[in-house]
Amino acid sequence: MEVTFGKHAGNSVEHLVVKRPDLLAQSANGQLFRLQQQARDLVARFDAKPITYACFGTCGQPATRGVVIPGLTGPAWWCDTCMAHDLDTNPVNLVSIKTYVGAVRYTKDRCGASRVPCQTLVKFFAEAKGLPKRAREPQIQQFFS
Ligand SMILES: [Zn+2]
Repeated sequence: MEVTFGKHAGNSVEHLVVKRPDLLAQSANGQLFRLQQQARDLVARFDAKPITYACFGTCGQPATRGVVIPGLTGPAWWCDTCMAHDLDTNPVNLVSIKTYVGAVRYTKDRCGASRVPCQTLVKFFAEAKGLPKRAREPQIQQFFS
């Protein structure tokens, strides 16, 4: 699917899903709203892909969630069974994120309007789910196929 309007014309919708989650999260109408509708299926595919990292705990199981310290966007990867912990943080303050929308919402709530934390956190999730670093269009298409 290709974007046909605005400054992102020529990019794929897939590209925007991984690189510009902030755009997909903003309230919109018209063309951008229709684009957001198209992105829904891709977001569902994104969520369906498993995290490829092992749990940070001692269980040896695959991780199923990203755990962030409020205000930061670099998650530690944990399974659902292990109790996530961080040396410097009260466990009640740790935030578990399991979905694309969860990542977007977290950055909007905790990091303010800046688009960078949103992009960064979604990028961490995409990489955890197998997207290569500095992925270009072919790798992005492959990620969603
Ligand atoms: Zn575990």
